[in-house]
Amino acid sequence: MMKDGKLLTLEDITPEMIKEVYTGKQGCMCGCKGRYYVNPAHREQADKDRGYSMPSGPGHMKMVKKVLNILKKDGRAAIEDNYICVDGLDLDAGERNYVAYINVPS
Ligand SMILES: [Zn+2]
Repeated sequence: MMKDGKLLTLEDITPEMIKEVYTGKQGCMCGCKGRYYVNPAHREQADKDRGYSMPSGPGHMKMVKKVLNILKKDGRAAIEDNYICVDGLDLDAGERNYVAYINVPS
């Protein structure tokens, strides 16, 4: 992902740039195995990209920061297109899936 002609790295990403995060068990990501937390500042864009509305609420921004921190500390995490995820989760160890979606205005 590029910004101002420069390739973004994980260190460049701030919580303010994240529109929503996901945390859950591995597999289906509709929300049946986990939960989305929405940055209130980017809620409109997040709804638009997702294709359906989801509320933000108290504590959501805290979770956005928390999930981004978890990803930044995980040496396997990488920016893929416009989201950050961990490549090579250990299914047998029952690792939890964390994803942070970068806000890209459209
Ligand atoms: Zn599902």
